[in-house]
Amino acid sequence: MNEPAVLAAEVRAGLAGIEGAFVEYEAEFGSKTTYRVGGRCSAMITCHSLGSLGEVLELVSPRPIYVLGNGSNTLVSDRGWEGIVLRLLGDFEKIKVGPTRVRLGAAVSLPVAARKLASLGLGGMEWAVGIPGTVGGAVKMNAGGHGSEAALWLESAEVYRFSDGDYHLQQASKNDLGLRYRGSNIADMDVVASASFNLVRCDEAESRRRISEIVSWRRKHQPGGQNAGSVFVNPDNDHAARLIESIGLKGFKYRTAEVSQRHANFIQSSVGGSGDDVFELIWLVEQRVEAELGVRLRTEIKLIGFDVERSRHLRGE
Ligand SMILES: Cc1cc2nc3c(=O)[nH]c(=O)nc-3n(C[C@H](O)[C@H](O)[C@H](O)COP(=O)(O)OP(=O)(O)OC[C@H]3O[C@@H](n4cnc5c(N)ncnc54)[C@H](O)[C@@H]3O)c2cc1C
Repeated sequence: MNEPAVLAAEVRAGLAGIEGAFVEYEAEFGSKTTYRVGGRCSAMITCHSLGSLGEVLELVSPRPIYVLGNGSNTLVSDRGWEGIVLRLLGDFEKIKVGPTRVRLGAAVSLPVAARKLASLGLGGMEWAVGIPGTVGGAVKMNAGGHGSEAALWLESAEVYRFSDGDYHLQQASKNDLGLRYRGSNIADMDVVASASFNLVRCDEAESRRRISEIVSWRRKHQPGGQNAGSVFVNPDNDHAARLIESIGLKGFKYRTAEVSQRHANFIQSSVGGSGDDVFELIWLVEQRVEAELGVRLRTEIKLIGFDVERSRHLRGE
């Protein structure tokens, strides 16, 4: 991979001088996703504070970045990605609790937040217990389940927005963020630093009971192992899993990748598997559903470093 083409020497020198930011060149990328397959990125920059994040963005812009949360909605190709991956830790893992309003750093784990808020008698975020992502990823994707979603509870988010060639820190209201079914208008260059949610006071025992119920449901209906949850978004008034199962693709394999026996919209990778095999299987499933049922499925998962034309097609573009 051609790292110097991505970051010139003066940029690398500048990054080395930013307190609270750590850079690793030719860093492992795919192994940091829940698929645990795929190659490296040119550089991985980890920021521990809002200040260091601002300095990093100023230095590296307008080069493309990929903000990596917990990688639970990300698939990386085996040859990796020639670009900068940004990770948030430290201050971004903080939780600030008010009477009903909570401010969650972008790197806060959703299951951790769900359990902590329930234990404080704050209801609303129980649905997040089964989603192995971060708050930043959940806001961008408008993650949800069990009859709820981020948009229902989100009030605002602190976002570094990229526009006119520059970054600006914005306190964006929910309306500014344009949350919709498994998406938002948060662009790939934008970075969510924290999010504020308006919750409700609730009975702690009731909230914990709801959490146990959701955890049991997930264990029963969804596979463990290496995957990134639902591969395709559900088409209007239907379920991607139902369509895939209806044409006999449950359990269908391509080399190290397999359509889950338990949930047909999950594609599993095996230990030591390959990102390219998962991508190929996603492609085969999409093509078969389109040819046999006339339905064009669109991926929910972010596909990084794969064939541009096929990735576009899979995104529904
Ligand atoms: C077993 C399993 C079950 C799942 N179940 C569900 C479910 O029920 N409902 C659901 O909605 N999803 C589900 N998912 C998918 C996934 O967990 C969610 O989409 C989650 O919100 C992704 O968060 P992440 O931090 O892992 O995102 P990543 O995969 O790291 O990133 C996803 C996207 O968000 C962006 N992003 C991440 N952090 C930031 C940030 N700070 N600022 C700006 N952009 C950012 C990335 O650039 C990328 O575009 C599941 C996944 C798994 C593995």
